[in-house]
Amino acid sequence: MDDIIDEKKMGKEKAKSLSVAEQARETEWTLPSFVQQLFNGNVHWEHLLPFAQQDEADKKIGDEFLLRLEPFLKENLDPDLIDQTGDITEEQLKGLADLGLFGIKIPKKYGGLGMSKFNYNRIVGMVASHCASTAVYLSAHQSIGVPQPLLLFGTEEQKQKYLPRFAKGEISAFALTEPNVGSDPAQMSTIATPIDGGESYLINGEKLWCTNGTRADVLIVMAQTPPKVVNGKERKQITAFIVEKTMPGFEILHRCSFMGLHGIQNGLLKFTDVKVPKENIIWGLGKGLKLALTTLNTGRLTIPAAATAVGRVCLKVSKDWSNERCQWGSKIGEHEAVASKLSFMASNLFTMDSVNQFTSIAADKGNMDIRLEAAIAKLYCTEASWTIADETVQIRGGRGYESSPSLKARGELGIPAERILRDARINTIIEGTSEIMRLFISREAMDDHVRRITMILSPKRSLVQRFISVIKSTFHYALWYPKQWIYITRLGHSSLDPTLKKHLKYVDKTSHKLARNLFHVMAIYQQGLEKKQQVLFRLVDIGMYLFTMATTCANAQRLMEEDPEGEGLKAKNLADLYCREAKKKIKARFTYLFDKDDKFSYKIAQEVLDGNYDWMENDIILPY
Ligand SMILES: Cc1cc2nc3c(=O)[nH]c(=O)nc-3n(C[C@H](O)[C@H](O)[C@H](O)COP(=O)(O)OP(=O)(O)OC[C@H]3O[C@@H](n4cnc5c(N)ncnc54)[C@H](O)[C@@H]3O)c2cc1C
Repeated sequence: MDDIIDEKKMGKEKAKSLSVAEQARETEWTLPSFVQQLFNGNVHWEHLLPFAQQDEADKKIGDEFLLRLEPFLKENLDPDLIDQTGDITEEQLKGLADLGLFGIKIPKKYGGLGMSKFNYNRIVGMVASHCASTAVYLSAHQSIGVPQPLLLFGTEEQKQKYLPRFAKGEISAFALTEPNVGSDPAQMSTIATPIDGGESYLINGEKLWCTNGTRADVLIVMAQTPPKVVNGKERKQITAFIVEKTMPGFEILHRCSFMGLHGIQNGLLKFTDVKVPKENIIWGLGKGLKLALTTLNTGRLTIPAAATAVGRVCLKVSKDWSNERCQWGSKIGEHEAVASKLSFMASNLFTMDSVNQFTSIAADKGNMDIRLEAAIAKLYCTEASWTIADETVQIRGGRGYESSPSLKARGELGIPAERILRDARINTIIEGTSEIMRLFISREAMDDHVRRITMILSPKRSLVQRFISVIKSTFHYALWYPKQWIYITRLGHSSLDPTLKKHLKYVDKTSHKLARNLFHVMAIYQQGLEKKQQVLFRLVDIGMYLFTMATTCANAQRLMEEDPEGEGLKAKNLADLYCREAKKKIKARFTYLFDKDDKFSYKIAQEVLDGNYDWMENDIILPY
């Protein structure tokens, strides 16, 4: 893909960003992604059925830890107080560290708890259900902060130097974002200049919104090192450095405050000639962006797990209030409008759980490409949990908008629905916004086609090589394309529950329709496709619903086999409802895949940008 990025057609800056992003993609695994195959009309059910469960011994370790964690959190962390004061005290941090919470995934040989990713997500989930700020503290430190990239790419020397410190409670942070650089890290302006013949580097620049940054002992900082020349072209180099807060030149300029997550320590950081030895580079020069994106590829699984745990709190709150509150002569839960919110919550939560279970187990196994699965988990769970939190506020009515301390002060139960909503809002923004997740998913979903096109169009290949690629691709598509019109199911499990099987067959069949439509949009728009975000996002959503339907049914099938009359039957009903709703959304997206209103809507948006509708901004006082 990098070879065919055309500066003339898309502009220099955009071409540079795309090129840097392409070079930073992860590309090697033993097992291919389930979701990528699904987008290709080739569902590999053997990766999903039978639905994997957490191993019993691992579950026992997690269960025992959660039993100790729960009383600690209840006794030592008051989430309302943290929300009001914006402070998690040093004593509270020490308590968390004494429990080992800053070294959950760090192997025991370095002093950590050595937990699996599954248990890590369960633990952070429980913390999030109690206090989101504390969960973010832990997650920023070890889902993306220094321990994670060190475990993935650090040398043994680096691991021995830093991991025991984290296991004892030192805190780390991940510094990628800058004031002018958010979703597009290629434009990064923080610079690391080699000195002393490359023995050390001087870091200069600013990093914004670095979670834990104002309290961290150690940070991983992404900075530009001198460019490399490849095939006569300058190639931008981004490198990851371990920076200690004690290094001269490191400064905290401002602690940021937000709509929610009042307890987090997040800030604007400045680096002025911060001298860092070359030993502090993780994974090597120029590998910083790939390191950051690879870290995020599985690191971002914590957010959906935490969002799901908070969703469970919302279900409990909504259920209790819908039973308790009577208006117009009946419980509010008996009014259809409220009832539909409850069933949405329950069915989506079962799906969120299923998706988290599948992705966490796959992450622990470590042999499967789960970038797409993790991106869908992040996208789907954060969007669903936002709706769930919003509906919880709605079901609670005026009490949903009232703060928990105020409710308590007038003698009611301090249910923090408004805090939950405030805290949840960030989840569709951090660690990849929903829009960037959709772009990422569409790029990876089309990878097979993109690779073939690159082989044909790359100016670096000889005419003969390109001609051979044309022949190969013609043969490939001559076989592949007709298959997308013929439905032969690979769903061999005759023991599947008939309702669930019906939905799984739909997934199988619709994956072919998705694959052909992806192929069609590539053929129609070619290099202009990257601009057709509405079309791409509809296809991504279809893939997202198919994957979530598949995991939900597979999980329900497992429960049906264990307990067909009890929990299994309930799970089957939840899966059935989720799938019925998802099918309607899929149908709508196929129906309006090439919606001609997209053009009209885009035109209006550009007119808004040009100020053509400024007359609508009359009679207001701007609040800033
Ligand atoms: C509370 C909090 C904690 C954070 N923690 C960290 C941290 O620990 N470390 C760190 O490095 N960063 C952190 N961040 C930064 C966070 O990751 C970024 O805010 C996020 O990546 C989005 O970047 P941005 O805010 O600059 O938005 P922008 O990139 O400016 O995007 C603005 C909007 O445009 C959309 N958009 C951008 N590009 C495209 C496109 N090509 N197509 C379609 N839509 C597009 C985005 O989706 C978004 O809706 C944190 C931010 C917050 C608020």
